[in-house]
Amino acid sequence: MAMQKNIINEAFPEVLKILSNLIKFQTVSGTSNIKLIEYCEKRLNVLGADSFKTFDDTKLRVNLFSTISGKKKLNGGGIILSGHTDVVPASTKGWNSDPFIALEKNNKIYGRGSCDMKGFIACTLALAPYFAKQDLKKPIHFSYTYDEETACQGAPVMLKELKNRNINCSICVIGEPTNMRAIQAHKGCYEYSTHFSGLAGHGSAPDRGVNAVEYATRFINKLMEVREELKKRKPKDSVFTPPYTTLQIGRISGGLARNVIADQCVVDWELRPVVFEDGVFVNKTMDEFVKNTLLPEMRKIYPQADIKKEIIGEIIGFNKEEDSDAVNLVCNLTGDNSRDVVSFGTEAGLFQELGISTVVCGPGSIEQAHKIDEYVSYEQLKLCLKMLIDLKDKLSN
Ligand SMILES: [Zn+2]
Repeated sequence: MAMQKNIINEAFPEVLKILSNLIKFQTVSGTSNIKLIEYCEKRLNVLGADSFKTFDDTKLRVNLFSTISGKKKLNGGGIILSGHTDVVPASTKGWNSDPFIALEKNNKIYGRGSCDMKGFIACTLALAPYFAKQDLKKPIHFSYTYDEETACQGAPVMLKELKNRNINCSICVIGEPTNMRAIQAHKGCYEYSTHFSGLAGHGSAPDRGVNAVEYATRFINKLMEVREELKKRKPKDSVFTPPYTTLQIGRISGGLARNVIADQCVVDWELRPVVFEDGVFVNKTMDEFVKNTLLPEMRKIYPQADIKKEIIGEIIGFNKEEDSDAVNLVCNLTGDNSRDVVSFGTEAGLFQELGISTVVCGPGSIEQAHKIDEYVSYEQLKLCLKMLIDLKDKLSN
């Protein structure tokens, strides 16, 4: 215990230093995170980590996967500590300090990404030298991804390469802010925009045009019907509130004026599936309705009329595992057995899809994430360090 306290006291100033550096990299989703990744890679590689990087098409955004095996060279198994490196935008307006310069005040550290989720990354980096010195039984992997906030674009690229390289991992801890409580499931989050293009004309002769707003309305009515179906499909043992898949229309925009036949309309809608099959069901039902009913009617009048579905993002759900190794491990380490579910999406489902037992647990509260004056408390960072140090004990002799 005393030793653990010493390690925390030693590592903590390092966490603050690293977190300040990480906040300085303005890694807003969609922009380059290369500098930040190089910083992390350098810190890990001097410790003898094996690393590989994967890129997006423009080579501006990059994922890092690094492995520390300790004194012995190890293969297989091991625990992934995973964090996304991107942050949501922040304008200086409204903030009490510069969002991209860390401010330490009242035992908190302020800055964009401090809580979601550079604080967790800083904790893992600060302890990496300590891990590297140990006699580990299983390797510790560091996974730092890009563009999680924009529908998890980075992680799938990294996970594909992980599979190619045959790197087997047994457990993944995703350090999203949960106040250090173990989260065992969340719904998926699928977002779509459906674009309708018809034919404009004079309002006095509606039959000669193709009214995009009216077809969009029929599309929405069908979505509302499907929504009722989803309630009936509620799984018996659902851990969510509400227990079924939800569907919602967030925005509709179209048309020019009262007396003009609308030739354009866009419907923004979202789906939060509790099971993967519901996502398939909704997409199949709507695609068929468009193909077999709406489009033929539109094209009878105007052959160029069209309906296009734009996929904004499809974050797959994170399913509750029966007797999850990852959840059991983290509950064991934190001493908190609450095993909650959350309403925000993470990369957890993607790791789980590869057969890796996954849990979401990290420092800070989601209440502070994406907000003005985002912060993480020293207390939360220290609890995270404690968990990671205890985790090492499970992995060493
Ligand atoms: Zn996050």
